[in-house]
Amino acid sequence: MNLSRNQHTIASSCQLSGRGYWTAKEVQVVMHPAPVDTGIVLVRSDLPDRPSCPAHVSHRTDAKLRTNIAQGSAKFEMIEHLMAALYAMEIDNCIVEIDGIEFPGLDGSSKPYIDTLAGAGLIIQAAERPRLVIDQLITLREGSSWISAAPVPLGTSHFGYQLAFDQPGVIANQSYGFSCTPIRFSRDVAPARTFVSEDQAKALRARGIASHVSYSDLLVFGENGPIENEVRFKNECARHKALDLVGDLALVGVELIGKFISYRGGHSLNGRMANALHELAIQSQARRQSGFFSDRRHAA
Ligand SMILES: [Zn+2]
Repeated sequence: MNLSRNQHTIASSCQLSGRGYWTAKEVQVVMHPAPVDTGIVLVRSDLPDRPSCPAHVSHRTDAKLRTNIAQGSAKFEMIEHLMAALYAMEIDNCIVEIDGIEFPGLDGSSKPYIDTLAGAGLIIQAAERPRLVIDQLITLREGSSWISAAPVPLGTSHFGYQLAFDQPGVIANQSYGFSCTPIRFSRDVAPARTFVSEDQAKALRARGIASHVSYSDLLVFGENGPIENEVRFKNECARHKALDLVGDLALVGVELIGKFISYRGGHSLNGRMANALHELAIQSQARRQSGFFSDRRHAA
């Protein structure tokens, strides 16, 4: 049975700060409660007139290794770890101000966001959450990668990721899947950190990117495992990829009921699935509205 639940916002404003991986800029993120049906709206508090952009897939822009959105001068980068935290905590409505373009890297995970939001508390709001129940199998492919959305019998949201490499390397093949609830996400997924291989880290630094990022700011895998760091879970990389999947699909802007699995996919494939799910959400809303009006005609 699929019982709809009510929308939530945070009970009080809260904030955190840190430096962006790509821009190295120190930024402050302030999150505020918002009325029903606001959705998640990002605001550039550092720009004149404070331009804003709904955190929605219709504003997604293509970028490598991160998820960005933009509307006019309101540009935001690396929003996925914030979005995963908001989605998993079932926060539907929130105004998020940031005084820069890029969200902070923090420790590479969603845990600092979860801790901050949990500290703010939640309020139940007097409106139903919009939701999309997957009733057909959807599979999208990109080279050897694929992503699928499938129906589930029990009205849950399941996210899974399979990490596999063509050649054995410093990061092992691994997988992870979980049913998304605030408790499960906070405990098992939110602490999983961003990762790169030592070669990738060197290549980024050679391009002048992320020179301020240290081995404690994310996982950098060398031949003997994480350099100057330790994994929090044996399959932390697959857990982090599942976290990214949640954050990217959160841009559909509705509660997702289904099983979402990615095999070797990244932000671009996640973005294509978010678009496909958004189309389905529009169709199912149109069906509901036409059903509503025909019922009313019948009743009259
Ligand atoms: Zn990530």
